[in-house]
Amino acid sequence: MERDYADLRDAIAKLCANYPGTYWRALDRDMAYPTAFVEELTQAGWLSVLIPEAYGGSGLPLSAAAAILEEMQAQGCNAGACHAQMYTMGTVLRHGSDAQKQRYLPQIASGALRLQAFGVTEPTSGTDTGALKTTAVRDGDDLVINGQKLWTSRAAHSDLMLLLARTTPLTEGVKSTDGLSVVLVDMRDAVNNGLTVRPIRTMMNHATTEVFFDNLRVPAANLIGEEGKGFRYILSGMNAERILIAAECIGDARWFIEKSVTYAKDRHVFGRAIGQNQGVQFPIAKAYANMRAADLMVKEALRLYEAGGNPGAEANMAKMLAADASFEAANACIQTHGGFGFAEDYDVERKFRETRLYQVAPISTNLILSYLSEHVLGLPRSY
Ligand SMILES: Cc1cc2nc3c(=O)[nH]c(=O)nc-3n(C[C@H](O)[C@H](O)[C@H](O)COP(=O)(O)OP(=O)(O)OC[C@H]3O[C@@H](n4cnc5c(N)ncnc54)[C@H](O)[C@@H]3O)c2cc1C
Repeated sequence: MERDYADLRDAIAKLCANYPGTYWRALDRDMAYPTAFVEELTQAGWLSVLIPEAYGGSGLPLSAAAAILEEMQAQGCNAGACHAQMYTMGTVLRHGSDAQKQRYLPQIASGALRLQAFGVTEPTSGTDTGALKTTAVRDGDDLVINGQKLWTSRAAHSDLMLLLARTTPLTEGVKSTDGLSVVLVDMRDAVNNGLTVRPIRTMMNHATTEVFFDNLRVPAANLIGEEGKGFRYILSGMNAERILIAAECIGDARWFIEKSVTYAKDRHVFGRAIGQNQGVQFPIAKAYANMRAADLMVKEALRLYEAGGNPGAEANMAKMLAADASFEAANACIQTHGGFGFAEDYDVERKFRETRLYQVAPISTNLILSYLSEHVLGLPRSY
């Protein structure tokens, strides 16, 4: 497999070697956050590579961030604990005022401020973002926020949250995605002051939460960009997010395939390596072929993105194909390991649970297929 950013990948692999399976297993049992891992990545500057040099980051292109995240996953680590610190700031960078950029980006780059909570999904609206109910109402120099978000990941490990809330009531004849605004919430002041964060236990260790806003006051100066245009700003960051998550899935697929091959060579049953049986080889070989094909789509999405395009179709396809490839590889890996695939000590079942998420979040497969049907194939909108 072609290795772009070889030096960078080697450095990530070296860092990840400090966080072996035993580290992740212990956290998984307690649903604990990988603080040491995230701190080391932050101190080494790996989470600020997308921030321009003028604001203290290293100003690398998206493909560098993709290589970093892919490599973390390929080494058996879980970038889900911190990937949002890399790209959530993109909304501030692209749509924030100069004052906001000067105030926040250098501190995010240094790690002094964590911006890795992103509050869009709500319990009743689900994928239908325009139906969200959280409101931000102006009162003097403040916005008063009321409502609830669900699945706000890493909120308990972030200083800031990028929040999407309704600033103009939904009236008949107005598009439901108009009148939404993006607000930067400083959670350090807000917790127990109108903001409550409650962890949700999930099938994998993901530090996700539900968040309640009860008359939370936030300075109106924290509005990002123009009031009422928030949905567009959130959409503009989605290509990058999808491409990066796709790269993580490629990394997961590589981990499962390597683990499967090693085990299939070592495990002897009926007096020979199980990997000698085509019934064991073929699912792994197929997973490999699908991982490589998905990786080409990730690279194509990156190429178009870095050329300044708006590769909505390619970013969505990359995310869907890579998530499918990682889950197929995960399934082949469990099967190859037989009963041991279910034992915690092999890490396979943990990674299997972790990679399953990407069929659903940050966007579910059905919604990607709907996007392609409508926007690429010109079929009627189905919802
Ligand atoms: C662990 C985890 C972490 C997350 N982190 C965040 C986060 O940090 N911030 C955030 O804002 N959100 C986050 N999410 C939310 C995530 O983006 C949503 O769960 C996801 O987009 C699906 O939305 P939903 O759960 O509301 O499902 P729903 O919208 O209720 O959909 C349920 C099912 O129905 C299908 N469906 C719905 N409508 C259609 C349709 N029109 N056509 C065909 N099928 C349809 C969907 O594909 C899905 O399979 C997270 C979710 C999880 C589980």
